[in-house]
Amino acid sequence: MQTISIFVIAIRLRLWINARLKSHPMICLRMKLNWIFLLTLTLLVETVQPGHCRASQDVARTTTISLRQWAGQNDLTPVAGGKDGQFEFTNASTRLTFKTNSPLAEINGVRVWLCDPIIPLAGEPCVSSLDLRATIEPILVPQPAKVPATICLDPGHGGKDTGGVFGQFVEKQYTLPLAQELAGQLSAAGFRAILTRTKDTFVELEERPSFANRKKAGLFISLHFNMGAPGEARGVEVYCLTPAKSASTNDKGKIANTSPLPGNRQDAQNVLLAFELQKSLVKNLGAEDRGLRRARFEVLRSAKMPAVLIEGGFLSDSVEQKKIADPKYRNQMAAAIVRGVLAYQHMVKS
Ligand SMILES: [Zn+2]
Repeated sequence: MQTISIFVIAIRLRLWINARLKSHPMICLRMKLNWIFLLTLTLLVETVQPGHCRASQDVARTTTISLRQWAGQNDLTPVAGGKDGQFEFTNASTRLTFKTNSPLAEINGVRVWLCDPIIPLAGEPCVSSLDLRATIEPILVPQPAKVPATICLDPGHGGKDTGGVFGQFVEKQYTLPLAQELAGQLSAAGFRAILTRTKDTFVELEERPSFANRKKAGLFISLHFNMGAPGEARGVEVYCLTPAKSASTNDKGKIANTSPLPGNRQDAQNVLLAFELQKSLVKNLGAEDRGLRRARFEVLRSAKMPAVLIEGGFLSDSVEQKKIADPKYRNQMAAAIVRGVLAYQHMVKS
């Protein structure tokens, strides 16, 4: 609409100039003014159009859809009284929270980083069809999938690769005992657990999902602990593979022109597994919710089964580092992961 108004104003201006110069003896002056007019028009369009449309073009690599319209079609009612650009939709089993110009949403109280921010178009908050298809709908309406029998656990780092180090706290020292504890608890719950490493050895990143593929595992769970500036961050994150041609969460909107990876074949199951694990970890550990996130981590790219990477807390946080070093806390974390896997299993059972 803004661009059309500029064209109308510009054309009126041109007609006015031509009318004034119709009888002017200096035709050259008239031509010069016409050129100035064309140049000004080009500059106006260049200045206004990108700012107005680029946001919608980036977000609408597929298309954008009015959230209100989508909610109406899915039996969700808007909740009145949202402030600071926040708005909610609910029904008996679901509560969704969004914020204008933000990719951070909440699905049933769990933080989820969308691939694209919610954008206002003609006053209507809009969501990308990519996020409906690859994030929101697979969580709200799980598709039937194979129930996993074998689960591949991937203790992050090992050997010469220490992972994050913060004083005496070394990441690889905690990922292996967590995986071993989790393997025991998964076996007790009826699953077969296999590990990409059982000792403090170095395993190449690409070998980890390859091992899971060779063993025909039904799920792949990579276990890590996080690092940041001291005291800056704490809490739990679960990552799954970024959908094709979309931005990873920590890339701040930078879109990688990435074609689908083998792991993208499981996009719907990846996000559901990540959601159920994030929900269970936050609920059962009382950990801060840093949200379900997207990344193209090497270990997630080539997995032929639903795959996630858990960042189970920050070694750089003075409270969380002590918890992570405590076997009792890691046992609770393993129990929370088992509950998340069971919830996922329940969801995909047809
Ligand atoms: Zn790590």
